[in-house]
Amino acid sequence: MEYAGAWLLFAVMTAIVASSKGRSGFAWLLLGVLFSVFALILVALLPSRKPIPRDPGAPGPETHVLCPDCKEPVRNEARVCKHCGAKLVPLSEQPLEPMLPTGTDTRRWRR
Ligand SMILES: [Zn+2]
Repeated sequence: MEYAGAWLLFAVMTAIVASSKGRSGFAWLLLGVLFSVFALILVALLPSRKPIPRDPGAPGPETHVLCPDCKEPVRNEARVCKHCGAKLVPLSEQPLEPMLPTGTDTRRWRR
């Protein structure tokens, strides 16, 4: 009877490890019942499906842009690159329309 208890324990542990990795706890409980410790080893080796939680201060495309000079990530609102000291224009202050060099749009004046 102890053997059955250990078997069940492995199945439950498999389900717990699986759900902690973002996998189906119920499916892995069944696998744990079928394969016991082997299912537990398998789910322990599998990579987690959960997205890696990102440090809120870590540079990302939503909060940071690459410095045009040194290509290091700097905050969107930064006026000066903290890495190389280059002057930056914060995204919120950039003109919405890209500034075209004068003389590029001549079609309007052509007859
Ligand atoms: Zn820089």
